[in-house]
Amino acid sequence: MTIYNFSAGPAVLPKAVLETAQSEMLDYKSSGMSVMELSHRSSLFEEIIQTAENLLRELMAIPDNYKVLFLQGGASLQFTMVPLNLAQGKKALYVNTGSWSKKAISAAKALDNVEVEVIASSEDKNFTYIPEIPKTIDQNAAYVHITTNNTIEGTAFEKIPSFGKVPVVADMSSNILANDYKVEDFGLIYAGAQKNIGPAGLTVVIVREDLLNKKAIFAPMLDYALQAKNNSLYNTPPTYGIYIAKLVFEWVKAQGGVAGITAEDRKKAQLLYDAIENSHLFKSPVEKKSRSITNIPFITGDEDLDKAFNQAALAQGFENLKGHRSVGGMRASLYNAFPIEGVEALIAFMEKFEKENG
Ligand code: PMP
Repeated sequence: MTIYNFSAGPAVLPKAVLETAQSEMLDYKSSGMSVMELSHRSSLFEEIIQTAENLLRELMAIPDNYKVLFLQGGASLQFTMVPLNLAQGKKALYVNTGSWSKKAISAAKALDNVEVEVIASSEDKNFTYIPEIPKTIDQNAAYVHITTNNTIEGTAFEKIPSFGKVPVVADMSSNILANDYKVEDFGLIYAGAQKNIGPAGLTVVIVREDLLNKKAIFAPMLDYALQAKNNSLYNTPPTYGIYIAKLVFEWVKAQGGVAGITAEDRKKAQLLYDAIENSHLFKSPVEKKSRSITNIPFITGDEDLDKAFNQAALAQGFENLKGHRSVGGMRASLYNAFPIEGVEALIAFMEKFEKENG
């Protein structure tokens, strides 16, 4: 049976990447060692991390005045590192578009000398839409934080709104390398790797140099400036994760780069949204113009039927289709490495289920 992994993360990786990793597993470039066993100070690893950075710079067209950091702690640690480094004694603005935004907001509020203001929210309708941004926002704020793609709720910013001169900080965990945003529209971007980049344990941060903290942070590991000064090698970085990220970046480049892969992502999403629109059984809970092309929730409106669908789907090899425990229903996460055949197979299965249960 073919297994299709619809997981929201850790998520499907390109088969070609896993095959390369497999072929290099026991003896990386005639070193007699696996990448996991290489010193992070060795020239072989230096080449890996440098190549990973160069490829990411090329794929995302990252300008020279931005640092690329390979850190640990997941996107969740960035919820604290961002205000700690950027907003000491200042105001930080947040757009609340879902569960992950809420966690970012509460982490910032937990810091003593950061003032948090939520400038827009879609909580009134269970985060099923992307809210309008007020015309006037405090131009002296340290930053405004947005979650570009809301993994659980299935909404996304199609375009990045204008916030004047306030630097935009983006949690791009679930749609990095799957959008046509421009890096120069952001002050800082962060993403946990385990969706479009590689294995869990690696977090990518892209930060404009002028935003790097001038004053040392009490905990060196949480200090962007120190991490940048040490080229992400202040301590032992997640070496194997960085190696897999490098392979994924090479793979994205071979797919026509971000533009090529995003065109394919749009095609996959459109197939599924069309199937949902044409169905009399399945519905999307998300407002049309706010829909994510990456995480696509759908429901029947009947919890028992959702459960029956999820069980039947699982038996057919459609793994991890169950919606997040906080929202229920189903959710198809169609990350870059998810094959279009998997979407077609799911649609055929949905049609069959509808015939039998509609
Ligand atoms: N932000 C978003 C948008 C996410 O999807 C996730 C993980 N699903 C997180 C933050 C948290 O990431 P981590 O588990 O790497 O801390």
